[in-house]
Amino acid sequence: MHIAIIGNGISGITAARHIRKLSDHKISVISSETEHFYSRTALMYIYMGHMKYEHTKGYEDWFWEKNRIDLVFNHVSSIDFKSKKLTFSNDSESLTYDKLIIATGSAPNKFGWPGQDLNGVQGLYSMQDLEKLEELSPKIEHAVIVGGGLIGLELAEMLKSRNKEVTMLVRESSFWNGVLPAAESEMLNEHIKEHHIDLRLNAELSEIKDDGAGNASAVVLKSEETLDCQLVGLTVGVHANVSFLKETDLEIDRGILVNEYLETNIKDVYSIGDCCQHRNPPVGRRPTEQIWYTGKIMGETLAKTICSEPTKYEPGVFYNSAKFLDIEYQTYGTVLAKPEDNVESFYWKHPEKHILVRLNFDKSSKTIIGVNTFGIRMRHEVWDKWLSNNTSVEDILIDLPKANFDPEFFATYEQDIISHYNATYGTDLKQKSPKKSFFSKLFN
Ligand SMILES: Cc1cc2nc3c(=O)[nH]c(=O)nc-3n(C[C@H](O)[C@H](O)[C@H](O)COP(=O)(O)OP(=O)(O)OC[C@H]3O[C@@H](n4cnc5c(N)ncnc54)[C@H](O)[C@@H]3O)c2cc1C
Repeated sequence: MHIAIIGNGISGITAARHIRKLSDHKISVISSETEHFYSRTALMYIYMGHMKYEHTKGYEDWFWEKNRIDLVFNHVSSIDFKSKKLTFSNDSESLTYDKLIIATGSAPNKFGWPGQDLNGVQGLYSMQDLEKLEELSPKIEHAVIVGGGLIGLELAEMLKSRNKEVTMLVRESSFWNGVLPAAESEMLNEHIKEHHIDLRLNAELSEIKDDGAGNASAVVLKSEETLDCQLVGLTVGVHANVSFLKETDLEIDRGILVNEYLETNIKDVYSIGDCCQHRNPPVGRRPTEQIWYTGKIMGETLAKTICSEPTKYEPGVFYNSAKFLDIEYQTYGTVLAKPEDNVESFYWKHPEKHILVRLNFDKSSKTIIGVNTFGIRMRHEVWDKWLSNNTSVEDILIDLPKANFDPEFFATYEQDIISHYNATYGTDLKQKSPKKSFFSKLFN
């Protein structure tokens, strides 16, 4: 059997690796971005000089041949689902398959702004985006980034690392406040400004001006203010990268529609990762999720379905992590920007530093629902267990040192957090003293 996979991102590559582990099927992975799989989340570190492209590849180049995974560096322009055939855009070749996995990822959004296709206007998604940015960089004095989210802030940090002036236009009244509760979002507003990024809130792009030679030279805001710039970064979200499939029989809404087994409406065709949309998402999850680890889980799950037994997609407890400039962020379970009626939201913030912990729990049962941490690293496996087991928030507070990632090397704030909880809810909880590890016994 020949399995063709379009897309060599985390989803497609995980599927390929696991299909190989489970079977002897012929596997072809097609991608037009890079010949080999690399970590997209590390794009910023290549630009900032922390890593080379080679370091972002998950596997040595010989790995693919040794594991009989054929890499095809080409672009699929169309699919004939009836004859099970892929056609490539830059030559007349085609490839037939028995089963097809579509894992084509996302593409940056553009909302029809005048000037959005000028040179110097770009998103930050692909290796090609990074190359364009690198080429333009010597000419950039001032960059305007449109959109207030994680990728916009990464782009701002990248440009600041090369001493460029950066303005961020955020339509909302506070950074990423559609996702983060007010306290977190306001803390980040401060942190961004401390990094000398000109954060403009309630600011909307109206048009991008042309310098007369097809290059962006300024942005005009809805307020009619004009800002001269040489780069306009469009980081206003992403959409499923499926435009080349729109005229086919494949059912697509905001992504390629799949059932619990990641099957599309067409027999022998599956979709995973950023480009798919779950018809019946698992409880508490969104139909589309553009995140690294869910793509990985989908790839692994689908390999089982294709090679051994039909396996449902079960992503488990939601988690994500990121860095907002210097602040590490982790989130587990559900923490909405505005809690639902049954949810009590308790948070503790360090009086001076950008360190914050929020615990969301059910008002009547006190069962934990979600946690946000900023500036403190927590242990994934501990939170995963607490959330899966519906643990009470008070049992968690008593045992909070258990979740501290590395108490030997990071300051601990558990005592302040429990005291603040006691003061807020009139309780008298006492923390269990943490078990001393080998290192602390050795050095203390
Ligand atoms: C800058 C940045 C930072 C991020 N940081 C985080 C983070 O901290 N945490 C997190 O969870 N997520 C993060 N993400 C999101 C995460 O990287 C994505 O969710 C994940 O990479 C999606 O994987 P995928 O395999 O579904 O698709 P992709 O990685 O997009 O791979 C799809 C591949 O298919 C190729 N392709 C598409 N169409 C065709 C075609 N017709 N023919 C041939 N090839 C094609 C594409 O070029 C691409 O190489 C970040 C994303 C970006 C851009």
